[in-house]
Amino acid sequence: MASQLKVAVIGGGIGGLFAANAMIAQGLNVTVYEQAPALGEVGAGVYVTPNAVRHLQRVGLGSAVEQWGARIGPASHYYRHDGSPIAPVRVSDASGWFACFGMHRADYVELLAARLPAGAVHTGHRAVGFEQNSNTARVMFANGAAAEADVVVAADGIHSELRPHVFPPSTPVFHGNLSYRGLVSRERLPDWPMDRWEMWAGPSKHFLVFPVRRGTMLNYVGFVPADEAMKESWSAPGDPDTLRREFEDWDPRIGRVLRQVDKTFRWALYDREPLPAWTKGRLTLLGDAAHPMLPHLGQGANQAIEDGMALATILARVDATAVPAALQAYEKLRRERVAAVQLGARQNGLRVDSISGDLTQRDAELVAHADFRARLYAYDVAPEAQAAAEALLR
Ligand SMILES: Cc1cc2nc3c(=O)[nH]c(=O)nc-3n(C[C@H](O)[C@H](O)[C@H](O)COP(=O)(O)OP(=O)(O)OC[C@H]3O[C@@H](n4cnc5c(N)ncnc54)[C@H](O)[C@@H]3O)c2cc1C
Repeated sequence: MASQLKVAVIGGGIGGLFAANAMIAQGLNVTVYEQAPALGEVGAGVYVTPNAVRHLQRVGLGSAVEQWGARIGPASHYYRHDGSPIAPVRVSDASGWFACFGMHRADYVELLAARLPAGAVHTGHRAVGFEQNSNTARVMFANGAAAEADVVVAADGIHSELRPHVFPPSTPVFHGNLSYRGLVSRERLPDWPMDRWEMWAGPSKHFLVFPVRRGTMLNYVGFVPADEAMKESWSAPGDPDTLRREFEDWDPRIGRVLRQVDKTFRWALYDREPLPAWTKGRLTLLGDAAHPMLPHLGQGANQAIEDGMALATILARVDATAVPAALQAYEKLRRERVAAVQLGARQNGLRVDSISGDLTQRDAELVAHADFRARLYAYDVAPEAQAAAEALLR
């Protein structure tokens, strides 16, 4: 191991908080700066898959994931919109390891923050400026504060303030869909099976559910075509009756869930084209700041976890003078792999929302998709990051 680099992580979302955990576990000196007055997340679920769970375990968060998550088992299934079965959903990696969990997003942020040392997270710090020279990097905040570090990690989400310091501004791509999201408590669905991920795919829409918080809540997401007004608003409260109407002729099981919905939120679905660069000097991007993607593979946060493990593993092995080369090595390891996942999420969205009459083709693709998931989940970025760091030192 090399020096105790000083790292400033901008953004205290799932990506930034995990990166801080991974870096502290590897001996780096990290401070997280979050714009909001307090850490938090929306009332919705996130699907955590084995390619992230193995890193959460490595930094000592395995039991917290078991404690707060809901383990997803092999009864998971794809259905047609009328409820007829299509295929099982792959929920283990290529070795057969079952480590998919449904997680409440607020629980995820809380368990990531709980492991950090007191004083590691500075809330109320909105980054508004960045400068660097060959020795150091500096972030300026709206509250007048500034932070100097050997490395700055922009984990500040799809609208990243710092990304233009790496690459000229780009426009997010709208995909014509929106998602309704929310949670229903188990008491309102007492006999709903809380051990599986289920999706119904129909013409131009799909609906999915999975349990969170030890099976005490069911997370639902309904994907539907969006109107132009929604395109501009990004996220907003939704109307439960409109959501119910969107799926009213579908499998009555969906109706059972939606009858219990009192409150829902809707998100317009955006991503960006894969970026040609993530890094400039001592500044690099991580998570949605680097690779915002559509949610159709459930991988945005999982890929951010892989980013954090890769970056921590490389930075822990270099000293301050080698930071720019180390960040290039991180980018080289991550950028193309994540671009493939970004594009895969687009393809999967087109697949499940297929409007062509040929559902046999769609169903065959959903069956075949199991192999893709097995490989995605089996990937372990840590040994590759270690090898990349060793190559730097030679
Ligand atoms: C409908 C939907 C469903 C999804 N489902 C899944 C799923 O099942 N599994 C999955 O893996 N992913 C899923 N995702 C994607 C996932 O939510 C994101 O990829 C993930 O949250 C990105 O984390 P992040 O930390 O990079 O960014 P964010 O969560 O956006 O966090 C960025 C943080 O930076 C802060 N910030 C912003 N600007 C500044 C600034 N200037 N200064 C300081 N702080 C700042 C923000 O306040 C925020 O806390 C889904 C997304 C959507 C829309």
